[in-house]
Amino acid sequence: SLHIAGIRKVFGKGPRAIEVLSHINIDVAPGEFLILVGPSGCGKSTLLNILAGLEAPTEGELWIGGKNVVDMPPAQRDIAMVFQSYALYPTMNVAQNIGFALEMRKIPLDVRTRRIHEVAALLQIEHLLERRPAQLSGGQRQRVAMGRALARDPQLFLFDEPLSNLDAKLRVEMRAEIKRLHLLSGITSVYVTHDQIEAMTLGSRIAVLKDGTLQQIGTPYEIYRQPVNTYVAGFIGSPT
Ligand code: ATP
Ligand code: MG
Repeated sequence: SLHIAGIRKVFGKGPRAIEVLSHINIDVAPGEFLILVGPSGCGKSTLLNILAGLEAPTEGELWIGGKNVVDMPPAQRDIAMVFQSYALYPTMNVAQNIGFALEMRKIPLDVRTRRIHEVAALLQIEHLLERRPAQLSGGQRQRVAMGRALARDPQLFLFDEPLSNLDAKLRVEMRAEIKRLHLLSGITSVYVTHDQIEAMTLGSRIAVLKDGTLQQIGTPYEIYRQPVNTYVAGFIGSPT
């Protein structure tokens, strides 16, 4: 579970300070798939970075799996993040890329190897384990990036527009893949996207942000059927 309480973020100081997030409160239940949408610059990535520990909030509390993580460094948070530019390690093969985080955690080789194969089977990339990233297609690379995140069996998955660099056909394929992985793993996820179809099909709930404030949070059906204001209505495109 994830508990975001009164999170505020201000960048800069004095007259140049800008408030990018203002008192965000969101509760995400265990196993939930929360979608975060909103226009460019509204604070989506900043919120994810705060969850990941890459950025400190100006104010507020953050609880992951019942633990207050605000002062915890990223490595201790039991989180995996998949970005739009999913930089794989170019000199390592696929197996090494997937196993890297486990190696850092000093997991023994046999356990690591078993886990790499498990994850590769799940993502159907077992035949690619010996290859290097340069020898893979865009979709295959994205699968490896997902495998790398999945291998750690995190408490929380954070996705920042992971499919936006893929072509339309691959996007559809990977969307289904992410849905399947979530059903299988049940890992609580927060997923940022600009894509309405992704939001409607993947999300158990959707949170709509605008200028750093939460406009509405609800199931795709609620957001579509009962938008609280014209902004939300426009964003998710309800015909009303
Ligand atoms: P996009 O959809 O374009 O990725 P976003 O919703 O992810 O946008 P953020 O990256 O969270 O937006 O940025 C929110 C605001 O904070 C923007 O106005 C941005 O310019 C500002 N910002 C982000 N990082 C910093 C920083 N390190 N210093 C100052 N301002 C920043
Ligand atoms: Mg962003």
